[in-house]
Amino acid sequence: MTDPSIVGGCLCGAVRYRAEGEPAAVALCHCEDCQRQSGAAFSVNVLVGTETLVIDGAESLKVFETTGTDTGQPRQRRFCGTCGSPIVSELAEMEGMVAIKAGTLDDRSWIEPEMAVWTERKHPWLTADIELGEFPRDLPT
Ligand SMILES: [Zn+2]
Ligand SMILES: [Zn+2]
Repeated sequence: MTDPSIVGGCLCGAVRYRAEGEPAAVALCHCEDCQRQSGAAFSVNVLVGTETLVIDGAESLKVFETTGTDTGQPRQRRFCGTCGSPIVSELAEMEGMVAIKAGTLDDRSWIEPEMAVWTERKHPWLTADIELGEFPRDLPT
């Protein structure tokens, strides 16, 4: 069965992917490397079985292999070589699974993170008990 929700691609469109079935989990990761690679406060990861993932334009992907700064585990971070969008990460300790970067999904309306990891690296403002202003689109000018 194909879940049409797990379809996405990079910013420039060179890389497109789809995965079948339900995700195993949706997890936020606050680790040092996810922050650096994404340029954001944390990554949002949709974990699926590697064998369910089909990538079109995979030749456009580059891979950065690293040992996780926080985890000490090998990682293969695959990103579009043209536009730099992080697409998937393969984690050595989760063999047979791949973490899709949720920001690259076409439809993100169903995303409900179930867990957050490396919260000790969490930006201080994320835990602050404050009201954040919400803007549906860009900041008002
Ligand atoms: Zn791209
Ligand atoms: Zn991470």
